[in-house]
Amino acid sequence: MRKAIISDIHSNLESLEAVLADIATQNVDEIYCLGDIVGYGPNPRECIDRVMDCRICLLGNHDQGAMFDPEGFNSGAERAIFWTRNQLENSSRGPDQHRRWDFLGELPRTCQEGDLLFVHGSARNPLNEYVFPEDIYNRRKLEKIFSLIPRYAFQGHTHVPGVFTENCNFLSPETIDDEYRLGEEKVMVNVGSVGQPRDGNPRSCYCVLDGDLLQFRRVEYPVEQTIEKIYAVPELDNFLGDRLRDGR
Ligand code: ZN
Repeated sequence: MRKAIISDIHSNLESLEAVLADIATQNVDEIYCLGDIVGYGPNPRECIDRVMDCRICLLGNHDQGAMFDPEGFNSGAERAIFWTRNQLENSSRGPDQHRRWDFLGELPRTCQEGDLLFVHGSARNPLNEYVFPEDIYNRRKLEKIFSLIPRYAFQGHTHVPGVFTENCNFLSPETIDDEYRLGEEKVMVNVGSVGQPRDGNPRSCYCVLDGDLLQFRRVEYPVEQTIEKIYAVPELDNFLGDRLRDGR
């Protein structure tokens, strides 16, 4: 069974379509989406429509913010969330509106299948906790989170892909030739971000898992098109477009 694991699309339709096209070449059986379908980007409705067919889709903090009162967001992110909510509430009245709203409202926060745990943020706080590469120096934090993981956890939220090992190493995809073989030891895998990579590489990132072999894939997409759309929406800060170009 080959799984594609995607996360943090953030209403970036161009990146999502490029990733789905790449997935179509990978003999993948099922797609898992770890949340943050919306927020920041210009195409929330279209992105929701495209992830509805995933085997599993989790709730992210931006998805939750769009439905309820956003808390803990900076002002640019919050404005984007209110604009997103408006897109979901006021445009396209009718069955599509309800379909999308119900879909978001029913998304689970975690999913476990055997040894595999899927979350948006962390096993300890599925929606909101960040696990950054520099957390390898915070041994207590990692130990606590690892204690909650069956064996392998897949997560997103930071938009920085890589593998955290139980002995507190962080392996970025470049240092492992984009491949990692799951073994006896527990690991946390950050699958990276489809729609807003922040590891200095502007290409979309996602993972393919085939048995115990994990592969990070990077996919080019027409980033300038997304940036133009963001520039055209006053409620979306231009910075949200600029950062896509640099992958930061
Ligand atoms: Zn995110």
